[in-house]
Amino acid sequence: MDEQTHHPAPPGAENVVCSRCGAVAEGTPPTWTCSVENGRRHYFCEKCARANIRAIEGRLDSSWW
Ligand SMILES: [Zn+2]
Repeated sequence: MDEQTHHPAPPGAENVVCSRCGAVAEGTPPTWTCSVENGRRHYFCEKCARANIRAIEGRLDSSWW
């Protein structure tokens, strides 16, 4: 999985981006789901979390999304 992140992630900016649809939220909305995969945190918006809840709970690798 190659990374193509171009955002420098300035300190203090804690915006989270949905790992599935790319939606951006300020802070960490309680409705979002955080999944730790391969030591990295992935966030999913409310809609994507519902769509992928079984995959997240199954701890499937997200590289196929
Ligand atoms: Zn999403």
